[in-house]
Amino acid sequence: MDTVHLQWMREAMLMAEEALGAGEVPVGCVFVRDGMIIAKARNRTNELRNATRHAELEAIDSIMSDKSLTPSVTEYPLSTTTLYVTVEPCMMCASALRQMGIKEVFYGCANDRFGGCGSVLGVNERLDHPVHPAYRATGGYLREEAILILRRFYVTENTNAPVPKSKVNRILKTEISPEPLVS
Ligand SMILES: [Zn+2]
Repeated sequence: MDTVHLQWMREAMLMAEEALGAGEVPVGCVFVRDGMIIAKARNRTNELRNATRHAELEAIDSIMSDKSLTPSVTEYPLSTTTLYVTVEPCMMCASALRQMGIKEVFYGCANDRFGGCGSVLGVNERLDHPVHPAYRATGGYLREEAILILRRFYVTENTNAPVPKSKVNRILKTEISPEPLVS
């Protein structure tokens, strides 16, 4: 596994940690261009009470609001930018990334419920699109950490508030079943 990719994913994981500390579903990301982070972000859906405020879209907003990062109008402003995100982008984000022409995506764990890079729908490359170019998405980078931090969030959430009986006995599972790299 490429150490450069792992290094960027560690930066994304720091953002996931920040999200956890803020009571958000812990997903973090960094966007890298020319060997530098041009944006990093994390989930803010609870804070903003807006289900679209995923880490990826927060970062895209920040990139597009900085004119120095996109000096002239271009169809695909992220064509030389790579995304590292701790969880597979959801269908919404996967589509946005394609419309922005993202170069490539690396992610930690799969998103079994909403994954847009193969787990539920292959928005990134399997679905044909008449205009927007496909992009490659590769999972498995810091996958176990990505899963564990999600579990930490859901366990904490359940101990902080009255919960349905079915969730009362939920425990923090630290055993992770092996899964090959997905792409
Ligand atoms: Zn998303």
